[in-house]
Amino acid sequence: MKSALRLYDTMAGKKIPFRPTRPADVSMFVCGPTVQSEIHIGNARTYIFFDALARYLKHLGYGVTYLMNITDLDEQVSSAASKAGEDPIAYAERMIAVMKQDFGRLKLDTVSRFEPVSHHVEGAIRQTESLIDEGFAYQAGGWVYFDTSKFRRWGRLSHQSKRELSLRPLELSPRKRNLNDFALWRPEVLVEGRYKSPWGLGSPGWHIQDTAVTVPILGAQYDIHGGAYELVYPHHEAEIAQAECLTGKRPFVRHWVHTNLLKQGGEKMSKSLGNVLTVREALKSFSADELRFVFLSKNYRSEFGFTGTDSARRRLARMRAMADGVGGDGDESALEGFEAALNDDFDSPTAIDWADRMLRAAAREGSREKARSMAGAAVRGMRILGVDLNGSS
Ligand SMILES: [Zn+2]
Repeated sequence: MKSALRLYDTMAGKKIPFRPTRPADVSMFVCGPTVQSEIHIGNARTYIFFDALARYLKHLGYGVTYLMNITDLDEQVSSAASKAGEDPIAYAERMIAVMKQDFGRLKLDTVSRFEPVSHHVEGAIRQTESLIDEGFAYQAGGWVYFDTSKFRRWGRLSHQSKRELSLRPLELSPRKRNLNDFALWRPEVLVEGRYKSPWGLGSPGWHIQDTAVTVPILGAQYDIHGGAYELVYPHHEAEIAQAECLTGKRPFVRHWVHTNLLKQGGEKMSKSLGNVLTVREALKSFSADELRFVFLSKNYRSEFGFTGTDSARRRLARMRAMADGVGGDGDESALEGFEAALNDDFDSPTAIDWADRMLRAAAREGSREKARSMAGAAVRGMRILGVDLNGSS
């Protein structure tokens, strides 16, 4: 199966045709949340986009296996648990349940499999051992580091030169051979998250946690790796280095797809800046359809300030009024304009404009039958984006 879909690929630095290895089973992995607290609308933007992408791939006839990890093994989780006076494992489990509820409320129902990384510690240890055996990693005290000087393609995804990389040292430590080396294993002093390993008690580094989840489940190579743009360096760069050195196969991932930042008041939304709007809070003022509509009205690759939400909400209400009583049936070819927009690097704002135009044209159309079919196409298109024009919330 061949589709006309093109996606912007961070590695290539341009839009390229979407060519999965097995169209019947497109494999997609997206970096999931760290469950130290509830997910916020910055996370929601990323997950709504990938959910809509998965829905569209299914609409095009692809089968989709969508895997998401959950970071439940992290100092942030441990310290949030101790602040809450809870056992860290119980805390993480509770927060995973909260996260899944939020996903349900946002109609994020395309994830086929969630994998908490705490279930993959054994795998991370085995991968770390192989990387040491093959000479790509080294032990230093209770630490194990990946030796970035052994991986020629380091910096390729983030398009950084050796010199630029030298200005961005990772995890400063005298134990390291190179400034960009990153930890595969860390001897933690935290009471929780301590696992037995050949290098003593500790826990896997953040980057190897993803490779430990993806390589056994999706294989040495898969189709789409997604996440927020800020994860490109060093997180995704490190995943490529680990996976390609482990399996000897490349490319590790065919399409690297990244969503841009959501900003609040001109700043990145982050817990440390105290400008976080959680999904739960947002859902008190917006319905899931409205939130999805707000985010998908903006291109996934542009920065977004979460402004103009009132006008987006009014627009959705207007489109709903025009689609009132129209079902989502009618002839398939009527979706051409909608697909053309999404085929161009998932240009959802243009796809929404198309649906809006169809509804306006339907309102002007003399023939009742024609009008119904046009409005029906708009309803169907928006449904692919997970926005129900026949709904009332
Ligand atoms: Zn990740």
